[in-house]
Amino acid sequence: MSSSDDVIREVERYGASNYQPLPVVIARAEGAWVEDIEGNRYLDMLSSYSALNHGHRHPRIMQALLDQAGKVALTSRAFHHEPLGALYALLHRFTGKTRFLPMNTGAEAVETAIKAARRWAYRVRRVPADQAEIIVCTGNFHGRTLTVTSFSTNDAYKDGFGPFGPGFRAVPFGDAEALRRAVTPHTAAFLVEPIQGEAGIIIPPDGYLQEAAEICRQHRVLLIADEIQTGLGRTGRMFACDWEGVTPDLYVLGKSLGGGVLPVSVVAGDDEVLQVFDPGSHGSTFGGNPLASAVAAEALRVLEEERLAERALELGTYLQAQLQGLLRLPWVKEIRGRGLFIGIELYGKARPYCELLMSRGLLCKETHDTIIRLAPPLTVEQDALDFAACQLIEALAEN
Ligand code: PLP
Repeated sequence: MSSSDDVIREVERYGASNYQPLPVVIARAEGAWVEDIEGNRYLDMLSSYSALNHGHRHPRIMQALLDQAGKVALTSRAFHHEPLGALYALLHRFTGKTRFLPMNTGAEAVETAIKAARRWAYRVRRVPADQAEIIVCTGNFHGRTLTVTSFSTNDAYKDGFGPFGPGFRAVPFGDAEALRRAVTPHTAAFLVEPIQGEAGIIIPPDGYLQEAAEICRQHRVLLIADEIQTGLGRTGRMFACDWEGVTPDLYVLGKSLGGGVLPVSVVAGDDEVLQVFDPGSHGSTFGGNPLASAVAAEALRVLEEERLAERALELGTYLQAQLQGLLRLPWVKEIRGRGLFIGIELYGKARPYCELLMSRGLLCKETHDTIIRLAPPLTVEQDALDFAACQLIEALAEN
């Protein structure tokens, strides 16, 4: 059997260097806990960037995967299969929307939402051809494809990848007046993360989403909520938009929709927008495949039956309270979050603390250099969070 060092050496020898993982090789996982090759245990406080809201290998989701794998795994959308209809019916119940377009990764679903918004703008709003604009926010993160990279405001994400696609305009996140000023007769949509995740768990001012929704309504601009990271219970509500009672025109979902097992994403909207697609205008070989559909449907059932959003709220409030003492440390700038979506912002670099926490059995990942993101599975036990809080308090006390 190889050691962790052997594996890491091989990966570094052959792999492109687009990630800088912590030096841990996860060999087994269950619930909120993982184990490396040598048998060391760690609490997963990242959840694959919120793709593991249900925890690792949730038994019901694994069973749904195995059951479906025993029948049919892949059909393409050239033919029908059983699990897709059931998934749509559940998505309808969860989102209230009437149409769904399934894809695989989050970035693909964001691209799909942009295509839907543009076609809707031309066909329904009569925006002149090729003039549609999408307003996005500074600090946004919606994925890594080229169109999505085109409207990033982070130079590190764009450096060396141009030329970029036109048709996007960025306004400061959290500033509704800036959004109002940016809207033109050519604006098709406003694309926003209700809480910015990659940017460092940035929560907008109270009322921002409501105001944005109202501006969009007044100007007949689509509100597209990217809930890929914040959705499905993470922030203590089913969707982060629920915190302000806002229903966007399009939800973009991914990550935990795949139950921590498969890449599954979807755009959810109503007929007026999603019916702009006709056969041949969009698609994906694997989007909405039988395995993915069966797993996603079970992931939604588990979310509801295990009350994972409520759990996130209770446990997130508990963990944040445990961490307040950290604010006494002069190098801790802020602790913020909603539900089990928490950021600890430091004045200095977060990476050394993530390495130290790893040696203490806690897997966390820095975002934007100075922020430690905490996003454990929503199934995590309270005593595991006590362990996490204890390790964070002791590790961060070291300077
Ligand atoms: N949108 C948001 C808000 C995200 O956080 C992410 C990933 O972190 C994406 C989109 C991209 O998802 P994927 O990595 O599955 O393409």
